[in-house]
Amino acid sequence: MRLILLGPPGAGKGTQAKRLVEKHKIVQLSTGDMLRAAVKAETPVGLKAKEVMDRGELVSDDIMVTIISERIDQPDCANGFILDGFPRTIAQADALSSLLTEKKKRLDAVVELEVDDKVLLERIETRARESGEVRADDNAETLRKRLEVYHAQTAPVSGYYRAKGTLKAVDGMKSIDEVAALIDMALRETQDA
Ligand code: AMP
Repeated sequence: MRLILLGPPGAGKGTQAKRLVEKHKIVQLSTGDMLRAAVKAETPVGLKAKEVMDRGELVSDDIMVTIISERIDQPDCANGFILDGFPRTIAQADALSSLLTEKKKRLDAVVELEVDDKVLLERIETRARESGEVRADDNAETLRKRLEVYHAQTAPVSGYYRAKGTLKAVDGMKSIDEVAALIDMALRETQDA
């Protein structure tokens, strides 16, 4: 199964992706996690990405598309994957579509977690307070920037998949278990369709 999880920062994409990994025996491809690993390892991509990430802005489409294209060729993706944090722009969505066609692979579903900004701000503040390892970009100022970037550049990606008829929107403000059940229901609908 090949899925995309869409939604603003703090919507619960990572949490839900981890559950789907267990359930469907597929891998989670979090571009945020990949970039943080690159920053930590001080790779050329990491060195380029660090400041952009700290500002809450987006890393260039070219870099992101190359990372994802190489990653989905790895053997552990053979059974399927969940894209978490990608695509974040229409250009990335277009590039993904071309590269999947090229690789003769098909997307099964695009699920969007819908969460209001007010709830997101509360959640990310809690994540910053409670997690031992504080993310450099989990602070009030950067968060506001990340939300702004989300609305300007990433929210249109939902419309892109809605127009293709592949988008399933789910209320991401319910409890973790309730959201999980809604996602399962949305995935069953796509499989039955
Ligand atoms: P995340 O963990 O998904 O919230 O990502 C953290 C940061 O990594 C974002 O604020 C961006 O700076 C960068 N990033 C992650 N995924 C992408 C992407 N698909 N395109 C551009 N930048 C990204």
